[in-house]
Amino acid sequence: MLARAAKSLAGGVSSPFRARVPRPLYFRDGCGARLEDVDGNNYIDYTLAWGPNILGYKHPKIVEAMTRAAQGPHTYGAQHELEYMVAEKIQSMAPCAERVAFSSSGSEVVQFCWRLARAFTSRETILKFEGHYHGWMDSVLISYHPTAAEAGPADAPAAALHSRGQVANARENIAVARWNLVDAVEQELARQPIAAVVMEPVMCNSGCILPRPGYLEAVRDLCKKYGALLIFDEVITGFRMTTGGAQKHYGVTPDLATFGKAVGGGLPLSVVAGRQEILEMAAGGGVAFGGTFNGNPVSLAAAHAALEELSNGALDCACRAGTALMDGISRIARERHVDLLVCGFPTAFAIHFTARAELVEYRDTWDDDTARLSAFIHKLMDEGVYILPDGRMYVSAAHGDAEVRETLDAFERALS
Ligand code: PMP
Repeated sequence: MLARAAKSLAGGVSSPFRARVPRPLYFRDGCGARLEDVDGNNYIDYTLAWGPNILGYKHPKIVEAMTRAAQGPHTYGAQHELEYMVAEKIQSMAPCAERVAFSSSGSEVVQFCWRLARAFTSRETILKFEGHYHGWMDSVLISYHPTAAEAGPADAPAAALHSRGQVANARENIAVARWNLVDAVEQELARQPIAAVVMEPVMCNSGCILPRPGYLEAVRDLCKKYGALLIFDEVITGFRMTTGGAQKHYGVTPDLATFGKAVGGGLPLSVVAGRQEILEMAAGGGVAFGGTFNGNPVSLAAAHAALEELSNGALDCACRAGTALMDGISRIARERHVDLLVCGFPTAFAIHFTARAELVEYRDTWDDDTARLSAFIHKLMDEGVYILPDGRMYVSAAHGDAEVRETLDAFERALS
């Protein structure tokens, strides 16, 4: 199938991120926490389609909501009831959500968010952090995974382009700092007018590294002091870390936040949420925003069902399974004297083969043994456990005791 696809699709895939380790697989079905490939191999799945399937595959409530929506027009390009129903639900869940806007992908809403921040503050420069991912667009794909040579000195990180074909002047309106270090943020804020400080509140795209105690609070205060907005990119942490995202977990409310992945329960949907006076700039305040598929009824029907399930206990189930997995994997590694670190939170964590006792920022991941990780991921796959190529594992509400037990057994065998 891959050989055939390679004659019509570049590399045979729809997103080049999927062409990495272990290998581009073809699937024919999935149910709950399990996937079946076209050769009939079964896997306990921890990719969840790179995040969205927070309730597992084919959750009955999602199927039912979508089936109902599919009987009506699949898109209006105009207003309908589900828009405010889902927006109201998000207002009740995410602390920053005075107003809400919908689009289809995380990359799109990040663009809108940054534009809003620049318009609101009348400043151009956005401060982002090494290792954080905010989509694949020219304007944001800076210092995502820089090599040591690209990243520059520790006390003055360079803004590194990530792709051939990316315009070099994309760097002009971006300042880059190392994450999780309060001084590094203050240094940049003091140096130049900054429109917004943008971060994943947990650095999920570079090893699921948690913010240090007090860091988010300190950045919140610094943003106030220097007149910059604080933006949390909660495309991964949103409706996954808690039902109100990382902002609810840490009790730090950003001015704006982006959501994606889990919010649609597997359907394409993304969200900007934030302060009323900022988001209202798109309604007569001169800030442009659009999207043919914004507010798509089928996606919103799935989102409505997903958010309802998550707030009714489904996320607690996922967290329980994730906690058991994180503890179990750490224990197995310890017993076998393997240098393996588990970083993150119960529904999104990553395994690192590293001798470090702690990972604080992106540069710490340079010491990871990535060849060992790749070999291990292959081994896990042979044992029927499917995780992301960077060692990330997403846990859904469909992962129960049986899946946890089987996964830990597979880890035991693969590690030995
Ligand atoms: N922000 C973050 C934190 C993400 O993890 C991603 C996707 N991995 C994006 C933005 C971009 O979202 P999308 O792939 O839906 O465009």
